[in-house]
Amino acid sequence: MPRCSDPQCGRWRPERPVLGLSQGFRLNGSWYCSRECLDAAARLTLGGTQFPVSPATGLPPLRLGVLLRHQRAIDGEQLQAALDEQRMSGLKLGAQLRSLGMASGESVLKALAVQNGVSYLSSLDLNRVRGGCPLPVATVRALGLVPFDFDPFERRVSVAITAPLSRAAVRAMATLTQWTVEPFLVDDAVWSVALASYRPVESPDGQPWSAAVSSVRQLADHVAALAVDGQPVTMRHAAFDSRTWVRLESGRETRDVVVTPDGGIPWPVQPTAH
Ligand SMILES: [Zn+2]
Repeated sequence: MPRCSDPQCGRWRPERPVLGLSQGFRLNGSWYCSRECLDAAARLTLGGTQFPVSPATGLPPLRLGVLLRHQRAIDGEQLQAALDEQRMSGLKLGAQLRSLGMASGESVLKALAVQNGVSYLSSLDLNRVRGGCPLPVATVRALGLVPFDFDPFERRVSVAITAPLSRAAVRAMATLTQWTVEPFLVDDAVWSVALASYRPVESPDGQPWSAAVSSVRQLADHVAALAVDGQPVTMRHAAFDSRTWVRLESGRETRDVVVTPDGGIPWPVQPTAH
């Protein structure tokens, strides 16, 4: 006869369901006797969350101004003028060059793509973001990655992303979906239109995929909602940009919960923020 997996509790599980008594909850292969013990388990799972640190690269990335000069998009005088103007305006260099009419949006995008080591797209056919990928809209919005050209057989997806590029979000998507994720840098305006046009397709397993953005406090509510009637639930998570994307899967539903640290409850473990 197994016991509740909460180390503080350890209550025995009844052999047969007792009428009028909760059957408890199954999370990640363990049984918990009560909602309180389930809440503690959900918190503990997130407790070990390590926030990814930007990988150290051997060489510092080439500066945007240097790249633009190398690409002959601007000359030295223009760069100096933009840098002088930038001190007053506080704009990013790319935006400053564009506002002075010194560089086109495409040349800035191209240089940013080289700087980040990714491909870029100057436009995106909106039919490519509609009805291909099963990720819920709220997940897409939270990650800041707009999927397109999803291939369920090869398990590959391309995503539209803006600068500064969040590698942590790309990694989180690859981790929780087990898809190969290829980022394409796009202009902020192209990204906004793509996000607004994004429509998910029915999931490959025919079960609904939903998403919510939540606090740590509310995460356990989502776990409990999926764990009703003895339904086993698996919970996996990946951290990105000081948020945690939690994927809950039961036999009936897949639910994404993007958890943001809330003011009410301290984050379980002090995140290593960078
Ligand atoms: Zn218990």
